Amino acid sequence: MSMVINADSDCLFCNIIEGKIPSTKVYEDDYCYAFRDIAPQAPTHILVIPKEHIPSADALDSGNSSVAARCLEAIPKIAKGEGLENGYRIISNVGPDAGQSVQHLHFHLLGGKRMPDQMI
Ligand code: AMP
Repeated sequence: MSMVINADSDCLFCNIIEGKIPSTKVYEDDYCYAFRDIAPQAPTHILVIPKEHIPSADALDSGNSSVAARCLEAIPKIAKGEGLENGYRIISNVGPDAGQSVQHLHFHLLGGKRMPDQMI
């Protein structure tokens, strides 16, 4: 079981990190947790999240951005483990217009197929 800094007991992803809700873990270190998305939109679809409750990238500042950097540092290791030599996409939705549905910062790591050319 992992501790979450500033944990929100109502937050799905805080509960996943703490092992209260099951997930398929693919990576974990002192700062980050990564698990398979329950509704994958690509052959590889992993969510990489900080072990600190940060509602979204819009809440990043000089006091907490280092944990986001740790998540980004984990992504190449995860991608290598998934065999994504041909590339991958990283997405972080912020707020209603972007369709953010879980209010805990997360990076979608998508790969294993040619991504659609629309939207970035
Ligand atoms: P977003 O819409 O950017 O906030 O992304 C939230 C993601 O969390 C979606 O892709 C969901 O499929 C995924 N998700 C929701 N609940 C779970 C869960 N229990 N385990 C794994 N992924 C989940």
